[in-house]
Amino acid sequence: MFLQSINVLDVDLCVQQPDKFVAHTRASADLREIMPYLNSMFRTSTYNHDAGSIKFTNDKIEYTIIGDKINIAKFINRTELHELLDWLKDLVNDTYDSRSEIIPMYVCRKPVPVLFIYNLLPKTNCQQCGEKSCMVFAAQLNKLEIDIEACPILSEPEYTANRRRLEGAFGAFS
Ligand code: SF4
Repeated sequence: MFLQSINVLDVDLCVQQPDKFVAHTRASADLREIMPYLNSMFRTSTYNHDAGSIKFTNDKIEYTIIGDKINIAKFINRTELHELLDWLKDLVNDTYDSRSEIIPMYVCRKPVPVLFIYNLLPKTNCQQCGEKSCMVFAAQLNKLEIDIEACPILSEPEYTANRRRLEGAFGAFS
C-alpha cells in the first residue's frame, strides 16, 4: 500500500470560520509523486509542481498537501475528521493504484473570472442555491467553494448551453 497512515499532529480553530477546525497531519509517505494525478482529478485544485504542493476542495472541506504534510480545514468535529482522513487515504491509494489510467496534469488551472460565471447564471437571485444572489454564487464558484450543481435552475432545459459552458470552463465532466 502506497500510503499506510495519516497521523494527526494537532487541531486548531479555523481562522476563516471560527466554528470549525483545521487539522495539521503528517502522511507516512511523501505525496509529491501522486500530486499530478490528483491535480488531474480535481477541478478545484491549485497545484505547484516546483513547490511540491497541492490544494483542493471537496464537499466544502479544504485540503492542503505539501510533501508529506497535510492540512485539513473546515471540519466540525473529530468524528468528521477521522472520516475525512479515511476518505483521503483511500483516495490517495486508489489514485496511486490507477495512475497508469490517469493522465497527470503538471500545470495549475487558472481561476474562472466571476463576471464570466455571472453572465452564464439565470440571474433570478432566487436563493435556491443557498446564496444571497447569483453574484454571490458566482463569487463562491470562482473560489471553488460551491458546485455548479448547487444551482438547480441551471439544470432546466433553457440553461443547458450555459451549464455546458460553465462545466467546460471548470473542466467538469458531463
Ligand atoms: S439558485 Fe441559481 S439562479 Fe438562484 S440565486 Fe442561486 S445561482 Fe442564482
